Amino acid sequence: MDAPYLQRRYLVSFESRRLPHIFTDVLVIGGGAAGLRAAIQASQYGQVILLTKGDVGESNTYHAQGGLAAVMDSADSIEAHIADTLSAANGLGNEDVIRHVISAAPQHIRQLQDWGGKFDTCDGSLSLGREGGHGANRIVHAQGDATGRTISDVLVGKARSVDDLKIFDHCFAIDLVTDPLEGGADARCIGAITYHERFGWQMIGAAVTILAAGGVGMLWRETSNPHHATADAIAMTFRAGVDIADAEMMQFHPTTLYVAGASRYLISEVVRGEGGKLVDRDGRAFMDDYHEMAELAPRDVVSRAILDRMTATNATHVFLDVRHFVKGAFAARFPQIDGKCKSFGIDPEKGLIPVHPAAHYMIGGAKVDIDGRTSMSGLLACGEASCTGLHGANRLASNSLTEALVFGESCGEIAGRELATAEEHSFPRRLEWKNPASERTELDLVDIRNSLRSLMWRNVGIVRRGERLAETKEIICFWGRYALDKEFYDPAGWEIQNMLTSAYIITEMALRRVETRGVHYREDFPKTEPVWARHQVARRTEHQLVVE
Ligand SMILES: Cc1cc2nc3c(=O)[nH]c(=O)nc-3n(C[C@H](O)[C@H](O)[C@H](O)COP(=O)(O)OP(=O)(O)OC[C@H]3O[C@@H](n4cnc5c(N)ncnc54)[C@H](O)[C@@H]3O)c2cc1C
Repeated sequence: MDAPYLQRRYLVSFESRRLPHIFTDVLVIGGGAAGLRAAIQASQYGQVILLTKGDVGESNTYHAQGGLAAVMDSADSIEAHIADTLSAANGLGNEDVIRHVISAAPQHIRQLQDWGGKFDTCDGSLSLGREGGHGANRIVHAQGDATGRTISDVLVGKARSVDDLKIFDHCFAIDLVTDPLEGGADARCIGAITYHERFGWQMIGAAVTILAAGGVGMLWRETSNPHHATADAIAMTFRAGVDIADAEMMQFHPTTLYVAGASRYLISEVVRGEGGKLVDRDGRAFMDDYHEMAELAPRDVVSRAILDRMTATNATHVFLDVRHFVKGAFAARFPQIDGKCKSFGIDPEKGLIPVHPAAHYMIGGAKVDIDGRTSMSGLLACGEASCTGLHGANRLASNSLTEALVFGESCGEIAGRELATAEEHSFPRRLEWKNPASERTELDLVDIRNSLRSLMWRNVGIVRRGERLAETKEIICFWGRYALDKEFYDPAGWEIQNMLTSAYIITEMALRRVETRGVHYREDFPKTEPVWARHQVARRTEHQLVVE
């Protein structure tokens, strides 16, 4: 039944002699915080090409609002930040990684400032926000809620100033190329096969490849993620036979703006951090009924409380109430959110903001060590595409941008150092891959995409149940038989193939974790089981899915 997801190694057939070749020392796939930071670092050692599938600013990074978590105040401490992160991680946090990232965070903030990043200040010191799960004010932000845009602009500016770093935008990485081509545990990553909007198909050979292709939010009907987040990274690594960890751990954000027919828009947790109250359709504040930290309870608790309240009041959403903020304060602190609300005729000073939970952040991904090395030689990974162990079973707000910068830098550094031995890994002169022709009829891809997103939201969302997960897997396998046996010639088709493949892995791992932990809530197994205080790792071997 699982066959469609296990048989396909490459999405497209190719004959390398007929394709333009480009060679570089380091290939970085992804132009968010992780990829940009990695590329800047690697460019100190050799030539770097960085790919983004859309414009370079189109990333989750660009849309980040809340900020970067870092200890920047003498009243706070590295130990306290570590303790908060470990506590949120629910027994799955890797303490060495947590210490490494949190200790390095302050110097990354200073580096962004040195590169021109202007963070918000108050009386000459950094103005530090508070988010759920953090025991101190440690969220560094820029232009109120435009932190991601600031980071992206600073890093893109820095990257563009480096001669040895070339950004190829509108260049879609279809698959990682390996030697031997079949991939697997002993293979080496030697680059990628790509499709450029203007130049067509290309084979990019690289001594080292860094995967930083971001998240998976588009797998769910309700998501805070922009449209590029189609889970390409998980699917690409899976096809190549790379180890994938903790893909069942998807974090849902409690509050996105709910306007029927419009894309969901994140309403940052900082709004609640600064006093915003959640109320139901009757205007009743309800978070005190669910958790002693009320609005600042962990995200999974708040998301479930909202769903519960929606069911109890038979409503499609709840509301955020910020009408008690000092006049003008909301618009000054959250200019982007204020503007977005007003574009729908909602004035947060006078009216309630309709909100609904949404898929937000993929904790799992390519399993990496403390330097960003994956299970495959020649391949490093960082950012949302990777699983470092920092977040364990639940991500503490604003720790991910920090992680992207810290691991981006170390991946760039390791890649650069590996170049010293790179000549041992020359690119084969001839590479050929042929997929068998499809014998099945075509299904409507747009329909599969929409149906998959609804299915994932219903059955692999905030609250999960064994039989619904099993049913989901069956449906995904059915679609896979019709979508994975075909070859497509543009990103829209490859994205759906990647979405289906990643949905298959996530559902399988969610089905196997028969307990509740962090963001993974199983209605049929509501307890956290000590025996499950371990990571799950999945990989594709020769036509088999192995989950350990
Ligand atoms: C609305 C929103 C708000 C957030 N707020 C915060 C916050 O306040 N603090 C925080 O710490 N985190 C926040 N996050 C999470 C954070 O933004 C991400 O975890 C982080 O930006 C991930 O960075 P990244 O570089 O790994 O991926 P991204 O920034 O998503 O970049 C991915 C890159 O990969 C490229 N790519 C993808 N697939 C391909 C392909 N097949 N070929 C070529 N290129 C490809 C994309 O074009 C893009 O350039 C937020 C996320 C969202 C969606």
